[in-house]
Amino acid sequence: MDHFLYRDGALFAEDVPVAEISAEVGTPFYCYSTATLERHFRLFDEALEGMEHLVCYAMKAASNQAILKTLAALGAGMDVVSGGEYARAIAAGVPGDRIVFSGVGKTDGEIRAALSGGIRQFNVESEPEMAVINQVAVELGVVAPITVRVNPDVDAKTHAKIATGKSENKFGIPISRAREVYAHAASLPGLKVIGIDVHIGSQLTQLEPFRQAYQKVAELTEVLRADGHDIHRLDLGGGLGIPYTRSNDAPPLPTEYGALIKDTLGHLGCEIEIEPGRLIAGNAGIMVSKVIYVKEGEGRAFMIVDGAMNDLIRPAMYEAHHDIIPVAEALPGEEKQTYDIVGPICESGDTFAKERTMEPVSAGDLIAFRSAGAYGAVMASEYNSRPLIPEVLVNGDQFAVIRRRPTLDEMINRDTIPEWL
Ligand SMILES: *Cc1c(COP(=O)(O)O)cnc(C)c1O
Repeated sequence: MDHFLYRDGALFAEDVPVAEISAEVGTPFYCYSTATLERHFRLFDEALEGMEHLVCYAMKAASNQAILKTLAALGAGMDVVSGGEYARAIAAGVPGDRIVFSGVGKTDGEIRAALSGGIRQFNVESEPEMAVINQVAVELGVVAPITVRVNPDVDAKTHAKIATGKSENKFGIPISRAREVYAHAASLPGLKVIGIDVHIGSQLTQLEPFRQAYQKVAELTEVLRADGHDIHRLDLGGGLGIPYTRSNDAPPLPTEYGALIKDTLGHLGCEIEIEPGRLIAGNAGIMVSKVIYVKEGEGRAFMIVDGAMNDLIRPAMYEAHHDIIPVAEALPGEEKQTYDIVGPICESGDTFAKERTMEPVSAGDLIAFRSAGAYGAVMASEYNSRPLIPEVLVNGDQFAVIRRRPTLDEMINRDTIPEWL
């Protein structure tokens, strides 16, 4: 459920007509709904009720300061994967003891920044990384709380580019080597082992892979405790999928996911952390674009829009589907049309949808790409010298630009000319 609905023939974001935002900020732009963000965070928080827990929003899904502040106000922690994200979380007012640091390539500079600014834990992905965290912690005279990310070798049954829990993926250490790696960690003076971390992939639409992974984590908890480690926190990653189409089978709900966590891990008495990103932000955002031309090709019609793959790369990168709807609702009885919906970039990959049957549109009409809140704006680039598009946050009947569109001069003036030119 989200808050992008038609009222009297016009698409609204909560209580604001999308066309009104468009008139003020120009297309294309991203638009997020506060109520949807809050609702999704609370679904997870409530699903874990009865267990000590922290929901750490995986901010790589959408990391605008206003989104982080919205979630932090509800008590969210943050899962960060770079020094930049760590700085963003701190800038949004998230205390260090609510920030977990994941990712396979943490540099010593990033580790130092997090240890100095405060960190809940590092989710360690390799032994070389463990050595560096230890060294930096010793230099700073602190002890770094860590979990080790184990790779449980389960098939997440998702798109290959976002599956992370198979042995062929670069993430974590093989679960078969966990005892050895934990023993090593316990011997290092700058580290304090506190728990186990796992994250098997993104856009999972079934619970079974989670069940398999969490059962392995439960077994490992007992084994490591028997080895003398104080395992009291389990970070279970993110990955619960969202419905990208309204026709498809819906993925499991956070309540079902929470019940699975209690079922597989509840008996261990551990504090539970989860790191959802997509489910919190995905259906809380749309990308609004304008139709530039409708061009009749041979046997097909191209809808050419002013948004492009640099603004929303998911279709080009993951063959992802986004529902695309007109901002002015079609009149009853209007016949649907079939379009290839494309952006203006000089690459055939700049295609949002092929042979999409939808309400008819004409040049100048606004359309909305639904489910664009996660892995949308954060993956945008300025390819073709297209300025990054603005982000807008709606809250009830108010809206605010939370990142404005840079001017062309600002974009160009970020380059500097060497003195020999
Ligand atoms: C990407 C990622 C997440 C979030 O995944 P979603 O599918 O967006 O929920 C959580 N944890 C880690 C370590 C990640 O890399």
